[in-house]
Amino acid sequence: MPELPEVETTLRGLSPHLLGRRVLSLTVRQPRLRWPIPEALRTGLAGQRIEALERRAKYLLVHTQPGSALLHLGMSGSLRVLPATTSAGKHDHVDWLLDSQQILRFTDPRRFGSQLWQPIGETHQLLAGLGPEPLGDKFHGDYLWNLSRKRDVAVKLFLMDQKIVVGVGNIYAAEALFAAGINPRLAASKVSRLRYARLADEVRRILAYAIKRGGTTLRDFISPDGVPGYFEQELAVYGRSGQPCRVCATPIRSVILGQRSTFFCSRCQR
Ligand SMILES: [Zn+2]
Repeated sequence: MPELPEVETTLRGLSPHLLGRRVLSLTVRQPRLRWPIPEALRTGLAGQRIEALERRAKYLLVHTQPGSALLHLGMSGSLRVLPATTSAGKHDHVDWLLDSQQILRFTDPRRFGSQLWQPIGETHQLLAGLGPEPLGDKFHGDYLWNLSRKRDVAVKLFLMDQKIVVGVGNIYAAEALFAAGINPRLAASKVSRLRYARLADEVRRILAYAIKRGGTTLRDFISPDGVPGYFEQELAVYGRSGQPCRVCATPIRSVILGQRSTFFCSRCQR
């Protein structure tokens, strides 16, 4: 599943091809994605110039004068800019024809992705209530500490709650908690202010690093379990159940927390 770093990499890759371009028309071959593609997307985008692009959580927002397209890659989606003459395959569900004689093509075998429309001045319900961006300046140790004072939920689930902070997926939560020396099962309320400062720093550091590395790779390198191949050698705990901790050699433990596999070192993480 594309995680925040990959969405950010996609945004940076697409931007030079989309910014300032006009969308001439849309070809929708399969409107039934995770949610049906609304007619408002087609009518809203047609003829409009792309003024800005933005990532919010794992959504790409393509801003035009009357509103914004909201794009999500779901489990298996990808976006590519191709020559307009490129023939469409079975999973190529949507093409935006651009005035550069190119298309923005959305490909999604599992169809959990989406293309939605947000009129100017409105906030789509999928974006309402989301927490701050982990790489923005509203996210820091004191922010986490303040929100966690009465929370008995495990700190890992707290960190993965999109209302608390967006885009910290399972891999990145596990790695950040290891780097900060915090046991993922500890109640969020039991983590000290100082340790939250460390955790926030590690979340930022790991995401920023993944974005940097993601800029030089391709989706095709992603392994079936969703771990980017280039990153796998460097993971400290994620997916390493039974293997020795890279710091203390204690076997990495794996437990289920919130229906997701959680990996940690019982010696390094308290
Ligand atoms: Zn260890």
